Amino acid sequence: MSAVECPQCGRVAIEDYYCNTFEIYIYCLRCGYNYSRTMSVGTEYEEEVRRGHGIFYLVNKGGQRKTVLLNCELDTKLLEEYRMEFFGQDTNQEESYLVSVKDNVFITHLGNAPEKFNLSFNEHKEQMRTKYGDDEFIDVIVPID
Ligand SMILES: [Zn+2]
Repeated sequence: MSAVECPQCGRVAIEDYYCNTFEIYIYCLRCGYNYSRTMSVGTEYEEEVRRGHGIFYLVNKGGQRKTVLLNCELDTKLLEEYRMEFFGQDTNQEESYLVSVKDNVFITHLGNAPEKFNLSFNEHKEQMRTKYGDDEFIDVIVPID
């Protein structure tokens, strides 16, 4: 698992790469974009791209997390559903948030996204460089924090 620049929002996305099958999954926990390249028949690959419309991140009081990548636009019905969940007794509102994105403009509807949420991929990379030192591997594989 490593960090890559999200093709949709330019922030930090996560890439899973399976070196034995060459399958790739990319998902962005900022804008909700996701991409997969999976093996279908024999050596044929199937690609699937889903545009992101935001993210709903929910932490409950027991510390369990739930992440929903929004692959459709946030409408009032959906917003109401998430609002109910967000204000549920079991939810840790301090750490949960709902952010939608439209035309690369991020709007926070519920809670507060952490500071690192707004970092671009390059800013994240710089932070990792500061944290781990100026190591060559950071240019190839950028760790997620
Ligand atoms: Zn993104």
